Amino acid sequence: MDVLVKYSLPELENFVESLGEMKFRARQLYSWIYSKSARDFDKMTDVKKDFREMLKARAVILDTKIKKKQVSSDGTIKYLIEYSDGNCAETVLMRFDNRSNLSACVSSQVGCHMGCDFCATAKRGFVRNLEPYEIISQILTIQQDTGLKITNVVFMGQGEPLNNYDNVFSAIKRINEDLNIGIRRITISTCGIADKIKKMCENTLVPTLAISLHCPDSALRRQIMPVENRFPLDTLKDSLKYYCDKTGKRVTLEYILIGNLTDTKEMAQKLCDYIKDLKCNINLIPYNPICEGRYKKSAKKDTMAFKYLLESQGKKVTIRLERGADIDAACGQLAGRE
Ligand code: SAH
Repeated sequence: MDVLVKYSLPELENFVESLGEMKFRARQLYSWIYSKSARDFDKMTDVKKDFREMLKARAVILDTKIKKKQVSSDGTIKYLIEYSDGNCAETVLMRFDNRSNLSACVSSQVGCHMGCDFCATAKRGFVRNLEPYEIISQILTIQQDTGLKITNVVFMGQGEPLNNYDNVFSAIKRINEDLNIGIRRITISTCGIADKIKKMCENTLVPTLAISLHCPDSALRRQIMPVENRFPLDTLKDSLKYYCDKTGKRVTLEYILIGNLTDTKEMAQKLCDYIKDLKCNINLIPYNPICEGRYKKSAKKDTMAFKYLLESQGKKVTIRLERGADIDAACGQLAGRE
């Protein structure tokens, strides 16, 4: 069976011609798959019947299955998606305010090898990279299932996107071209693979960048995030400045508030020092408990004191809304479990 989501438009044209059909049929198919999020060939009413029958015998749109679907009380939907080899990874639909921001949080790998100590995905270990079409399939799955059009994509599901560089950037090109989502609405989150941050600045399409900083103290960061050994905070900052200079954009620094560890006054002050000369926004993330976790949430008063200290030094700070925590769909809780 041919899996149509694997094909770009020119490849779809070749496929259609190989079935002895006119090239323009490919555009019809393309529009049904990407603009109208058709689930099956029977929906494609302007495609003539005998061609639809031929397609049914020869091809599928997606080769993935929804293994499990959970809906949170806040409207977040988590899908556990099973790929053709039986591996699973989540994708999450998040709704903010209104229909004009429908974000898909996608996975770039099954598992992850970065080993961050507070993250459920890390505890699972690394399984494999996802292919570009497997990333696109996640977005199409949400669109097909809900009938909604995704407006924003964040690479904040399972995996470290910059460790699956080629596939992730092929997927970004297709998200932009086939799903028609602007590059400013596509965000990569990384734990800080500094050389790849610099490399991506040379691409034609450079996405919005979010950094899982989580700690401004090199010794402590090394304990909770092994990536600090390879790309220490200084090297990371270098690459962030490079990104800002090259793109004119700001970076978002993500910062998990872990009680009595990263949420102290001392850490707040170190964070201020670290970002003094950096064009950035700060997004504070409440720590989400994971099983086998040995950390705890920051107390409300400590969170507020932390935020206040940053703001008093002129920094723009937001606290991330906790989405989908009741269905284990929140940051760091994705482990591919059923
Ligand atoms: N590997 C990339 C993409 C994952 S994004 C990265 O590190 O950025 C997932 C986000 O959730 C990251 O910012 C991650 O650090 C954060 N996270 C992981 N475990 C968490 C937890 N228990 N509570 C809150 N956030 C967590």
